[in-house]
Amino acid sequence: MHLCEEFDMKKVAISACLMGQKCRYDATDNLDVRLLGKLEQYTLLPFCPEEYAFGSPRPTMDLIKTEQGLKAISNLTGADLSPPVEQYARNFFDAYGNIELYVGKDRSPSCGVCSARIYDSEKRLLSSEGSGLMSAEAQRRGIECWDAEEYLDDLARKTGYIG
Ligand code: SF4
Repeated sequence: MHLCEEFDMKKVAISACLMGQKCRYDATDNLDVRLLGKLEQYTLLPFCPEEYAFGSPRPTMDLIKTEQGLKAISNLTGADLSPPVEQYARNFFDAYGNIELYVGKDRSPSCGVCSARIYDSEKRLLSSEGSGLMSAEAQRRGIECWDAEEYLDDLARKTGYIG
């Protein structure tokens, strides 16, 4: 094998909080050692659109279904926080054109893949299986996308091994 091919490892985009970065709304992390163990043979590309746009700690936001589509709305001010998150997502995937896998933090309005909660304008729950704004961009680009917990469950199903 050519040296370059040997080191051309599969690139995986991953929510930075899952790697231990304290970038959650309350400046804590979601470190998942088991997940990182399963991904150790890959090149990991961490991202956190919310810390980039708003810092940590920060007010929370929820996904609201509007006539203009899904919007991330601040629970503090009611402002639409979607544009900087969506811009970050576009910039991230433009910068790394060869990402093969996306692993997002479950239930996040930015990073969740099939687990984000979606509300109506009265804050009534419409779905718990929505896509966050960052993962929606990854899916639009045809990247294989998984929620972190579901990724681990799927590996366990395939291998029969819970490690
Ligand atoms: S779930 Fe996504 S936006 Fe939230 S802290 Fe983790 S990386 Fe950042």
